Amino acid sequence: MARIGIYGGTFNPPHIGHLSAAEYAVDALCLEKLLLIPACIAPHKQLPENAPTPAQRLEMVRLAAGDDPRLTVSDIELQRGQVSYTYQTVEQLAARYPDDEPVLFMGTDMFLSFQNWRYPERIIKKASLAVFYRGDPNEQSLIAAQKALYEQQGATVYLVQNPVTDISSTDIRRMLIFRCASPFLHPAVEQYIRKNGLYGTGESYKNLSLEALQKVVVGLLNPNRVKHVLGCCETACELARIHGANETDAMRAALLHDITKALDGPAQLTLCSEYGISLNDFSCQNPKTLHALTGALVAERIFGENQNVVSAIESHTTGKKQMNTLEKIIYVADYMEPNRDFEGVEQLRALAYENLDEALKMGLNMTISLLKKQNREISPESVQALAWLEKKGS
Ligand code: FE
Ligand code: FE
Repeated sequence: MARIGIYGGTFNPPHIGHLSAAEYAVDALCLEKLLLIPACIAPHKQLPENAPTPAQRLEMVRLAAGDDPRLTVSDIELQRGQVSYTYQTVEQLAARYPDDEPVLFMGTDMFLSFQNWRYPERIIKKASLAVFYRGDPNEQSLIAAQKALYEQQGATVYLVQNPVTDISSTDIRRMLIFRCASPFLHPAVEQYIRKNGLYGTGESYKNLSLEALQKVVVGLLNPNRVKHVLGCCETACELARIHGANETDAMRAALLHDITKALDGPAQLTLCSEYGISLNDFSCQNPKTLHALTGALVAERIFGENQNVVSAIESHTTGKKQMNTLEKIIYVADYMEPNRDFEGVEQLRALAYENLDEALKMGLNMTISLLKKQNREISPESVQALAWLEKKGS
């Protein structure tokens, strides 16, 4: 009896995280082969509009698997069409391989919600389960309990502890637009994506109208950040009008100021290395502040924004000495936009309309004292900005 692995998913797009998990699975459970099965329509997630067709996802999985003899790409779910339910796939495969042990692979999140799948009891009757497990101590007891529960019902459950690359397809799609996804994709897959203009890679993002820019930005942000960015845009425009800066530049800088914020630490560092940026110690240790630098680079290289816009984005988290009016506006707008709610925000807002320097000073002071309270490192730029403002004001 040989073990046949079943690894399904939307693969939108397939990336090195999928592939390393697949290779690891083959070795860990001594699989005869592993079937990679792109879903036709996944029951649990809706793909974004303009997503590639199922046939295109299948083709990408084929390219990603290459000629690895242990991996077989199966179109079984595409052949069925419609919503892809795993119980149907498992039953079909069990009939096709009657003398073998089908092993269904899944991530921990899927395993922990297994009872919500369509007919889990039919699945465990025909296949063993294998859970890709990252060794997260918070999940340990939950997984053990779930494993025990299904073993009681007659299931075989393997835990496969694998050091997977923690990157999501959502971030890969963002990184494709920012032209820094190569480290996470098989070269043939990236080539296919670009040749077919998938995930918006066929478009130019330079010289967009304000309206078009806003639409693109909203698509790239984390949904929970959209309100903040739109609020910031409105506030920046208002402050620009009051303090005599270019309103269009202010709105464009505000729209783009958090454009790379959705990418987590490792993705930020990848963006820097792909863009050839060497980092100082502070940035390496505080990758959260990197989104100002990477956002500025993306604004310049991908969106073709002018230097005023670019430099205002670059200084928006830390400030710096000798800030110009637009730079001050973006720093302050980020702090006081209508969705911000903290003690002193009303005072900051009132100050911003009257005296931009004083508002900036207040923002810098608040950030520095918060960081001190949290025992976190303070950016040298913030300290320099404050010293410059003090000297200027005296
Ligand atoms: Fe920010
Ligand atoms: Fe922000």
